[in-house]
Amino acid sequence: DRFMELSARFLGQARRLERAFATASSDLDPLTGVHNRQAMLRDLQREQARAQRSGRPCALALLDLDHFKRVNDTHGHAAGDTVLSAAADRFIAGLRAYDTVYRHGGEEFLVCLPDTPVALAVGVIERLLDRLRGTPIVVAPGVALRVTFSAGVAPLAADGGVEDAIERADAALYEAKRAGRERVLAAAPGLDKKGPDGAP
Ligand code: GH3
Ligand code: MG
Ligand code: MG
Repeated sequence: DRFMELSARFLGQARRLERAFATASSDLDPLTGVHNRQAMLRDLQREQARAQRSGRPCALALLDLDHFKRVNDTHGHAAGDTVLSAAADRFIAGLRAYDTVYRHGGEEFLVCLPDTPVALAVGVIERLLDRLRGTPIVVAPGVALRVTFSAGVAPLAADGGVEDAIERADAALYEAKRAGRERVLAAAPGLDKKGPDGAP
């Protein structure tokens, strides 16, 4: 009986661990180890609800590596993968513990910065850019690449959808690319959907 009880407890614990691990790892992008897109949409809804309750600002930054296709074309896909995962490591190392990095897709990352106004977030992301370009990424013995990104920053407003906020960050990112890349731009202040007295 004692053996059966111990064995049941062991199996129960193993199953709980397995479930916890599966849940945690299904939120992660396998290449870079940062959170994936699925986790992103869920988390951002939650962050927005929190911003709504607390009235505190939250900023979203969309980062896209510059001329990344050239890395693949010149050095191979494996080198491209190395750059992606090294860049993600640098981002995490350069952010606060409560900021979250997501792989938005391909060579594009989204950073959620709670309790941070847009102007401050621009400075934070500029610092990430400085650190990234300041230390080339080694992709093969003797091959170190200077990597940069362009970024757009927008508020995760208390009103308006999460998708709206991402679109605004994306529009600012597009402007940053157009202006010559290697820079961080804030989204233009939103044209209020409501009039000053709340009328449409
Ligand atoms: P831009 O500065 O305008 O952003 O130019 P870009 O070359 O970075 O952008 P483009 O969209 O033309 O190319 C993105 C490339 O990223 C193409 C795609 O093959 C590559 N890519 C996307 N995901 C991965 C990945 O997981 N690994 C590797 N190695 N490459 C990837
Ligand atoms: Mg891209
Ligand atoms: Mg790119």
